[in-house]
Amino acid sequence: MDGTYKRIVVVGGGTAGWMAATALASALPASTVELVESEEIGIVGVGEATFPSIRNFHRLVGIDEAEFLRATHGTYKLGIEFRDWRERGERYFHTFGDFGELSGPNALWGHFRRVGDAGLGTLGEQCLPTVMASQGRFQGLASEEDRPFNYAYHFDAALYAVFLRKLALQRGVRRTEGRVVEVVRRADGGVARLTLADGRALDGDLFIDCSGFASLLLGRSLNEPFVDFSHWLPVDRAWAVPTELSGAALTPYTRATALEAGWAWRIPLSSRIGNGHVFASRYIDEERAREQLLGQLDGRPLAEPRLLRFTTGHRQRCWVHNVVGLGLASGFLEPLESTSIFLIQSGLGHLIPVLQQGRASTAAEIDHYNSGMARQFARIRDFIILHYCLTARRDSPLWRAMASMDLPDTLAFKLHAWRQAGVLHQYAWEGFDAHSWLAIHAGMGHWPERIDPGLEELTREEALQALRQRRARLAAVVAAMPTHEAYLRRMVAR
Ligand SMILES: Cc1cc2nc3c(=O)[nH]c(=O)nc-3n(C[C@H](O)[C@H](O)[C@H](O)COP(=O)(O)OP(=O)(O)OC[C@H]3O[C@@H](n4cnc5c(N)ncnc54)[C@H](O)[C@@H]3O)c2cc1C
Repeated sequence: MDGTYKRIVVVGGGTAGWMAATALASALPASTVELVESEEIGIVGVGEATFPSIRNFHRLVGIDEAEFLRATHGTYKLGIEFRDWRERGERYFHTFGDFGELSGPNALWGHFRRVGDAGLGTLGEQCLPTVMASQGRFQGLASEEDRPFNYAYHFDAALYAVFLRKLALQRGVRRTEGRVVEVVRRADGGVARLTLADGRALDGDLFIDCSGFASLLLGRSLNEPFVDFSHWLPVDRAWAVPTELSGAALTPYTRATALEAGWAWRIPLSSRIGNGHVFASRYIDEERAREQLLGQLDGRPLAEPRLLRFTTGHRQRCWVHNVVGLGLASGFLEPLESTSIFLIQSGLGHLIPVLQQGRASTAAEIDHYNSGMARQFARIRDFIILHYCLTARRDSPLWRAMASMDLPDTLAFKLHAWRQAGVLHQYAWEGFDAHSWLAIHAGMGHWPERIDPGLEELTREEALQALRQRRARLAAVVAAMPTHEAYLRRMVAR
């Protein structure tokens, strides 16, 4: 790629497009950033649960929490409650907290297993945000430096795009309304110009493809191959429907309930509940999946359910010539752990420092970006598969298939390291830290076969006492916190 990136064109005005435009305009003041979007095509309009990294993005671009929550009907998210994943009737939480030490003679989970005292409850009761979630309580952080847990948000995706658009325009981003009908290529294979339906043309040095599932530049024009993950993650459709709040508790967490051929989400916003059923069409037909969604709602539907189709996987390279794909244009892992917006952010976080050098990016920099993003997709894929493959359910074809599937080598190795030696192995470019992996192993009742003999350095009584004290301390701290609803009300009234 030659030259620097004076003219950056972002294609698409969904979450990816407006996040990219806002971040690029803030980080590259010497460049012009122009975003083209088509209201006629619209945005995907789902993607309402997030990952804590979104708070870094908000900090970097200067978004005020109260203003953001008001504008997007947002709520706080401590994590996800998983229902019926191991067996029907069972539940566990994956929150963004920590379980103390993870290895060696002071490994908290190791003592928890060793002591095996029924009075201690679940391992989750040793994790602050899990206790907060289970009690429906929330309290913001006193400081970012001393952070005993992390949190994210739920928000209305359409309102978030509008909110970011306003911010981006304030930062000097130019917005063009129009439908891209032609992508004009350069002699070296890159993109030179976009032609709109009304004949206008947009020239650029760098194109950010945020055109959603259409993948207009990276997929359709540059023909970048798609790495298909659907043999591991077979869900390929979702019905989505909003319901009224109807007095239901405003839980500070997403709920993911395993169903016959997929799972259902429940995402509480301050104005409504977002619901959906993600399913594998090879195991259930669309009509039955729709009925299953409607059958498990806890409020009155506010609209007809909407069907979305997708394939899990990603473009082999996300950066090709002068085109960088972000958001759904670059790939999609199913939404179980709400990682799409995180991947947009991660892409931007790795792209911007390269662009800020004020010179043409080298092939090595582009390769590094591409291999990093491909690894990140693969790491998150493994983490999502973990939720399925540990199931004890055998009551339908999907669950039988998930329990017996051939795992990716990277995941098989991690499972081996955990089962054999209690090691929570981590690779580079992980999206989820070892505490998150532990939350899923523990929630799914998947424990190592042997306990580290080093744990014996603490007597059983000492370990039991330490665990009891930690549990009691966390319970007392949480009991003094406001409910999620009360805290949120105070925050948005600011
Ligand atoms: C069922 C489901 C549930 C999801 N849940 C979550 C979740 O909980 N958390 C999460 O992080 N993510 C989730 N996602 C992913 C999330 O929706 C997306 O990552 C996020 O909304 C970003 O979308 P996007 O901006 O890439 O695409 P879109 O929102 O689809 O935006 C595409 C843009 O491109 C424009 N466009 C397309 N073609 C043209 C053209 N020819 N000319 C001009 N403009 C064009 C469109 O008008 C639009 O503005 C979910 C996805 C699905 C399918």
